[in-house]
Amino acid sequence: MSNKTKYIFVTGGVASSLGKGIISASLAKLLQARGFSVTIQKMDPYLNIDPGTLNPYEHGECYVTEDGAETDLDLGHYERFLNVATSQANNVTTGRIYQSVINKERKGVYLGKTVQVIPHITNEIKEHIKILGNTGDFDFIITEIGGTVGDIESLPFIEAIRQLKWEMPKEVIFIHLTLLPYLATSGELKTKPTQHSVMKLREYGIQPDILVCRSEKKVDPSIKEKIARFCNVHVESVIESLDAKTIYEVPVLMQKEKLDQVVLDALDINTNKEPDLKVWNEFLYNLNNPKRTVEIGLIGKYVELKDSYKSISEAFVHAGARINTVVNLKWIHSDTLTAENVNEKLAGLNGVLVAPGFGTRGVEGKIEAVKFAREHEIPFFGICLGMQVAVIEFARNVLGYKDAHSVEIDTNTSFPVINMMEDQKNIEKMGGTMRLGAYKCHLLGGKALDAYGTSEITERHRHRYEFNSSFEEQYKASGMLPTGINPDNKLVEIVEIPEHPYFVGVQFHPEYKSTVENPHPLFISFIEATAEEKLKELSKA
Ligand code: GLN
Repeated sequence: MSNKTKYIFVTGGVASSLGKGIISASLAKLLQARGFSVTIQKMDPYLNIDPGTLNPYEHGECYVTEDGAETDLDLGHYERFLNVATSQANNVTTGRIYQSVINKERKGVYLGKTVQVIPHITNEIKEHIKILGNTGDFDFIITEIGGTVGDIESLPFIEAIRQLKWEMPKEVIFIHLTLLPYLATSGELKTKPTQHSVMKLREYGIQPDILVCRSEKKVDPSIKEKIARFCNVHVESVIESLDAKTIYEVPVLMQKEKLDQVVLDALDINTNKEPDLKVWNEFLYNLNNPKRTVEIGLIGKYVELKDSYKSISEAFVHAGARINTVVNLKWIHSDTLTAENVNEKLAGLNGVLVAPGFGTRGVEGKIEAVKFAREHEIPFFGICLGMQVAVIEFARNVLGYKDAHSVEIDTNTSFPVINMMEDQKNIEKMGGTMRLGAYKCHLLGGKALDAYGTSEITERHRHRYEFNSSFEEQYKASGMLPTGINPDNKLVEIVEIPEHPYFVGVQFHPEYKSTVENPHPLFISFIEATAEEKLKELSKA
């Protein structure tokens, strides 16, 4: 193909939550499977600089990249589908755009000029879109515009992409994702909301090239014809997107609908290479043909919104498929767990995962869950705060330090077994100031070393507090060992109880690195341990 990077913009209409992220990731997967290099970018129209300061209830999980950017959870889907790392450049918010323009204004970059949404904000957006394209590393940049067409706040993004099409007509196409509601009373799929949404786009000067229509029923050729006619697109550019069993079926469904071919045609790209989805299809086969099932409790405080733990639940899917195991996650609210009810609430689980988190709420419940798993020899996996509460629980109930705590929650504890990191002590700003992104870890042994099969690893971080090494000797003497250490600053990254069938706590977030093609070794080893425990339980019964 020509060496010019192509830009594919994905907008959404009619309703939010139609799955622009999954459609973008699926298209990217199909293009990648044809041998093209592809990346995906997300534009978020809110004013936060990044989602790092948002409560997960607001926007789901905050996903962390290798370079330490706190980003939208859709970037997690991009990495899980493409198996290629993203970076700060892959997620831009209105807040970041305004911050950059205002900083330039203060520096005098626009001296003498009135600084305005058009052209200054739109130019800034265009520059951010082109950062990835200008690297020359990609054949395609797929840019997902957050929000729904017609929202006031996404307007500058829509205007910026309209201008990009005007500047590079042969390099840019637009995909619009809409919904075809089904009216049970008349037994019909309705196209009017789609027509109106496209009308709105055209009012803004954008004619979509391709329409992807979400629908719970088959979209007949006559409906496609009608949509094509009224929305001014080719009939083969109306793509049906039926509800899928899992998000991982979507690339295959989109291939059947020829979305990738329609995109290549729209951009005038000829290729004989068909998508090679061998590895992907093997994964789907394993996912659909499991040999065993385990029940794992996910103990967290944001469990009402499953998106809050998206990377963790997807990591279970990838690792489970690799070892032909279905992981049934039981979502347990840490707020509701007490010493009195923990036995009853966690009964029957084959494994316990204590999730990451911030602040006081739910911490005591998480500590109860650790105690239950430790004492009943149930496989335990603690991630970030989950590792920290495991350390606190051990101090209280094994070392006998009854008021042991993390200074995040009790600044006056006599046993600050989880302490604030040195480099965090003088930080006053909240946004983007945690320990973020990839750091090295040296593995000393234990289940972690067995799982990774190599002693030098890197994993991503997002925290302010750490294991307090001044207690290390007491822990070692009583059976909780550090088995992973940061080789540069000596921070404890992993703790394990070797006497326990499986007890691993990690300060980092392994879930961010799990992809379809590379399931995470710690998730695999944890699931394997839960399956073994289940077998033992069954043979006792
Ligand atoms: N609140 C803890 C800290 O900041 C844990 C963070 C997390 O679980 N991501 O260290």
